[in-house]
Amino acid sequence: MSKKRTAKVIIVGGDVLGCGQANQLGHEGWGEETVLSEKAELTSGSASHGYGSFRLAYTEDEMDWLRHTLSVGRALGFNIELVGLEFIAEKHPYYNLEGVIGALYTPDDGLVASSNVTMAMATGARQKGVKLFRQCRATNITQNDAGEWVVETEQGTVICEHFVYAGGTYARQMVEWTDLQLQMTSMTHHYFVTEDVPEFKDLDTELAVIRDDKLASGHIRMVQKKGRIGIYEKENSNSVWHNECPWEYENWLFEADYDRVMPWLENSFERMPILPTVQPRRSPTVTPSARSSHLPS
Ligand SMILES: Cc1cc2nc3c(=O)[nH]c(=O)nc-3n(C[C@H](O)[C@H](O)[C@H](O)COP(=O)(O)OP(=O)(O)OC[C@H]3O[C@@H](n4cnc5c(N)ncnc54)[C@H](O)[C@@H]3O)c2cc1C
Repeated sequence: MSKKRTAKVIIVGGDVLGCGQANQLGHEGWGEETVLSEKAELTSGSASHGYGSFRLAYTEDEMDWLRHTLSVGRALGFNIELVGLEFIAEKHPYYNLEGVIGALYTPDDGLVASSNVTMAMATGARQKGVKLFRQCRATNITQNDAGEWVVETEQGTVICEHFVYAGGTYARQMVEWTDLQLQMTSMTHHYFVTEDVPEFKDLDTELAVIRDDKLASGHIRMVQKKGRIGIYEKENSNSVWHNECPWEYENWLFEADYDRVMPWLENSFERMPILPTVQPRRSPTVTPSARSSHLPS
């Protein structure tokens, strides 16, 4: 990057959202006037996805929440429906449905390797003229008297009309540069990947993801021939980086805290009894706090 350049748009952050925006702007004809700056390498953020998914309900209140979600989903054009136990058991014969009274089924939930998607979108953006700068952290953002954004980066300054934030969990500290404040906290969550599950060996397609907010406080899914349990603790949750997120962060794994997640982990194994035959691997990670897709407890 030259020490000072002008552009129509700067996108800060080069993971799935930033590269997606860059690709889209390229296809809208803004490629030559768009730059993207990524502090590390592309796909350095937290992006990671079945073959359909079920959101389970155990009570009438939870069914009401699913009906609400159904109407919102349909209004947005999603292929989504309420289904009964027989349907769930047919699609997912390994889940213990005791106590479940229904589910919201989203058949088009898909499986993608998010880093591959990000790289493909980055390639599309480059082909349309977008300049992508790696190892190029944005260090300050101000507005000049003309109302343009002045974005200082490790490789020079960019003056532009539009600033697109795609920096993930760094949002709070970056918007503070512009005197804005965001109510945002980074939470650590656990996910566990099992060894290969013998029952999955001969399956041609992946099983639907089960989102069991009540008993697993998260999701249980098949990933290739392994099982994955992702827990978003409803109780005993843990936040980190209260003052600021370290700029060196690139997909670190945190120390596991098994006591904190044990009730959900035990429930998960009880719900999917084919999993306890294998050893879980601990892989806690960090994600910006956002539980909007979850059922009320
Ligand atoms: C364990 C785990 C599992 C998940 N599973 C799923 C799932 O199954 N399905 C799903 O839809 N979502 C899932 N998510 C959520 C999903 O990963 C996030 O919603 C997604 O990564 C957000 O993408 P993003 O591009 O907005 O931000 P991020 O992926 O966080 O990327 C932000 C990028 O900005 C860069 N950056 C930050 N600050 C600066 C700066 N000052 N200058 C330059 N660059 C900067 C970072 O280096 C990084 O590359 C999961 C998350 C986790 C942690």
